[in-house]
Amino acid sequence: MGFSVTNQRNGSQFIADKKETILDAALRDNRIYPYGCRNGVCGACKCSLLSGTVDYGEYEDFALSDEEKREGKFLACQATALEDIVIDADEVMVGQSIQIKMLPCRVGKIERLADDVICLFLMLPKTQEFNFIPGQYIDIILKDGQRRSFSIGNLPEDAKTEGIELHIRLVPDGHFTPRVFESIKQRDLMRFEGPFGTYFFQSEPTKPVIMIAGGTGFSPIKGLFEQAMNENPNQSIHLFWGARDQEDLYMGQLVEKWLKKYPNLKYTPVLSENNTENWIGATGWVHDAVCEEYESFEEFDVYASGPPIMVNSVRDSLSKKNMHIERFFFDSFDFAPQN
Ligand SMILES: Cc1cc2nc3c(=O)[nH]c(=O)nc-3n(C[C@H](O)[C@H](O)[C@H](O)COP(=O)(O)OP(=O)(O)OC[C@H]3O[C@@H](n4cnc5c(N)ncnc54)[C@H](O)[C@@H]3O)c2cc1C
Repeated sequence: MGFSVTNQRNGSQFIADKKETILDAALRDNRIYPYGCRNGVCGACKCSLLSGTVDYGEYEDFALSDEEKREGKFLACQATALEDIVIDADEVMVGQSIQIKMLPCRVGKIERLADDVICLFLMLPKTQEFNFIPGQYIDIILKDGQRRSFSIGNLPEDAKTEGIELHIRLVPDGHFTPRVFESIKQRDLMRFEGPFGTYFFQSEPTKPVIMIAGGTGFSPIKGLFEQAMNENPNQSIHLFWGARDQEDLYMGQLVEKWLKKYPNLKYTPVLSENNTENWIGATGWVHDAVCEEYESFEEFDVYASGPPIMVNSVRDSLSKKNMHIERFFFDSFDFAPQN
């Protein structure tokens, strides 16, 4: 037996089991609320509690402040219902059914994109269907049960033939990523669960769009951009890619190809630690470069993915220049909880 959760926004109702988070219960019922890390860190799944009580679960203070709690906010990815509750939550409409699955896979192609970035393709057994929306992510399940999240960099139709594309940055003291750099090889067996997240391309064809990638935050941006161009090759998109140095812009040649093909794409690479003399592009922090370029962000849909500090800086600085917060879509690459 569980408790009923009613979403006042659209009148929908589902049951949440006693120890089940509101987000898991909603997903089980094929209801997709905006969410990101599922660890109580990124804050993307914040909703309002209108009646009843919840156990707030474990979360970072910056993801849900005491003041927000007093205002009735909670994080759907951590909170569990303690009685029947009524909430107010946005619901993301997707035109296809997305089933979250746990699947085995084999490592396919492995490509070194930079000193500390590897592109890994995961091949599924031929009998398995795996559907996702470009921009979503998967959790790789490690042998000890820990999970590590990585965004999918290609389109579903490409993933079927070439494998699911991941851009993995080395975290030198990390539990998982050093293994990818030191010992992973083709045909190794792995397991993952997914797809997760609501970082989808959801802009009207006439809407001007800004996409901002930080480092390997380019991976979901690549999926979002390719999907956007499949649907409307004339969409106006300004892509910013923030990286430490030129080598970090590890798919610069692909972006050059896009620039030749899509007339309304503009590209601004931004280096924070430039040490090449011939660099004529922007330098500094990517959010500053975006802010310098535009007086106001009122008319834009903005997509940002990469390190949490970059995503937060983009949100803070663009909000001060009229960005509509409900038109800000993000995936913050928060770290997994340490077990
Ligand atoms: C939704 C989502 C999507 C993501 N997509 C991608 C992706 O496409 N590509 C990608 O490279 N990463 C991505 N990440 C980040 C990635 O999951 C972590 O960097 C990775 O899990 C690190 O694993 P690890 O076991 O090597 O390090 P851990 O053992 O988890 O970490 C070891 C130490 O390093 C710190 N740390 C962990 N990760 C980072 C980091 N990224 N930068 C700096 N310090 C870190 C931790 O605080 C910890 O102290 C994503 C994260 C989320 C939540």
